[in-house]
Amino acid sequence: MAGRPPLNRERDIADLPKGADILQNPRLNKDTAFTERERAALGLRGLLPAHIDSQEEQVERAMENYRAKPNDLEKYIYLTAVHDRNETLFYRILIDHIEEMMPVVYTPTVGLACQRYGHIFRRTRGVFISILDLGKVDSILANWPGEDIRVIVVTDGERILGLGDLGANGMGIPVGKLSLYTACAGIDPARTLPVTLDVGTNRRELLDDPLYLGIHRERCRGEDYDRLVDEFIRAANERYPGVMIQFEDFANINSFRLLERYRDEVCTFNDDIQGTAAVALAGLHAAVRIKGSALKEERILFLGAGGAGVGIGELIVKAMMEEGLDEGDARRRCWFVDSKGLVVKSREKLAPHKIPFAHEIEPARDFAAALERMKPTAIIGVSGMQGSFSEAIVRRMAEGNERPVIFALSNPTSKAECTAEDAYRWTGGRAIFASGSPFDPVEIGGRTLSPGQGNNAYIFPGLGLGVVAAGATRVTDEMFLAAARVLADEAAACGLGEECVYPPLSRIRKVSASIAVAVAQIAYRRGLSTNPQPEDLPSYVAEEMYVPEYRRYV
Ligand code: NAD
Repeated sequence: MAGRPPLNRERDIADLPKGADILQNPRLNKDTAFTERERAALGLRGLLPAHIDSQEEQVERAMENYRAKPNDLEKYIYLTAVHDRNETLFYRILIDHIEEMMPVVYTPTVGLACQRYGHIFRRTRGVFISILDLGKVDSILANWPGEDIRVIVVTDGERILGLGDLGANGMGIPVGKLSLYTACAGIDPARTLPVTLDVGTNRRELLDDPLYLGIHRERCRGEDYDRLVDEFIRAANERYPGVMIQFEDFANINSFRLLERYRDEVCTFNDDIQGTAAVALAGLHAAVRIKGSALKEERILFLGAGGAGVGIGELIVKAMMEEGLDEGDARRRCWFVDSKGLVVKSREKLAPHKIPFAHEIEPARDFAAALERMKPTAIIGVSGMQGSFSEAIVRRMAEGNERPVIFALSNPTSKAECTAEDAYRWTGGRAIFASGSPFDPVEIGGRTLSPGQGNNAYIFPGLGLGVVAAGATRVTDEMFLAAARVLADEAAACGLGEECVYPPLSRIRKVSASIAVAVAQIAYRRGLSTNPQPEDLPSYVAEEMYVPEYRRYV
């Protein structure tokens, strides 16, 4: 990518730090892979053992260490140490072992790492902007060494995965997501910036913990909170014009309104709302392909009407409208049940994001009652309520549908509405199943059924690559619709057979590149691009992707 010298180009060694300094620079460090000539030129003789490793040998040693760790948190700590020491090696092992490491660098282990952040902390990463920094945000961003930042992931730590308010401990999330931007889509790590807005926490255990690293005060709300977010958005755009800002793990009270406030003003999106929506929509596209029906014929009942659920609903409505339904008809095909029962028009004090799905229908007290009324073809769980797709509910779906679509998307695994095994067993293997967290394949009647994992990492890295490639000024719903379509097509073409809901993670860089092309095309078509349109967009996108190979310095 621009800003990164081409690989293997002879560099002027005068510009490079020497001796111990280059070993301390994770972006430049090659550890034992520095060649004889480099060791001589960079003052490294004697600072490294004699044997010169290939990158493959370094990977072998790193994997031996990684796999010897007794648990996933220790694996996370080990990987973080590699990341801090030798960035190229970190991305090499992450890319080459993405299926094995995804649950460690991201959900569920990253959640545990966030909970323990103040206790496992080794070395800082990212920018912390606290509420006490109001009026000084630009000077804080000025301290960050990167100059050509193209992607920022920001959290305020209030709703970390399914774990709630973790305050400044939430920094693990932007760090983890940005490492996936690089691993899954080849966004140059030098162009990424993790940010935590430290506005306090309402979690008593953290406030009482002397090792908690955030500000020890209750969460700031209201005007000062909004001023801090606003100052950050403006300072980021002044310092890095057009930078894409991904909002991550904000609570609903802020996530929807911040998205509405900024989506038409700057290049931004909310992954919990829009990224989740695209990955779920892709799963539905795949499901209707498997069933041989059309999306506009589906009736979808949601359990959970939070950011994820309503985000998915809104994008499904747009996708159904693309298939010819009018908006009202499309909305009537999506019903929501939340903790107070079916979302209906007559309910009082409905949160604004639920109102477009509050239909003029009789109330129903719970999911089972709503299911009887609606007779859905698909159920989508985004409630965080473990086991809420009970045997009775799943069997009822199987009675009314030849191929019931059952998506239990709540994370982590322990919160899934049902397991893959439950869904397949209770439907005699007829369910088209996907989950938020991974489940192992299930044997039913001599067949092996592989559940799909609706991981947001299928969408946001490729979307980001497309936005960066085109220099897109906005992130639009049309881009998410296109990304969902591409992901579903990649599932169909992945060679795992007709029943495949999502492609294997091992194909993620190919999937991301295809999504990037589709997203960039939209930016060019809609006049939202600031970069000139290349003649061969797929080749241009492929060339833009960071590859973790060592540079030859001399
Ligand atoms: P949220 O807190 O905004 O929403 C949760 C919703 O569930 C609320 O509407 C709440 O009323 C409802 N709910 C809670 N208990 C209920 C009950 N007993 N009965 C009925 N409804 C109940 O959270 P969110 O951001 O929407 O995320 C929800 C879940 O989706 C989380 O577990 C999250 O991990 C998961 N998620 C998955 C993916 C993915 O698979 N790619 C992406 C994002 C979120």
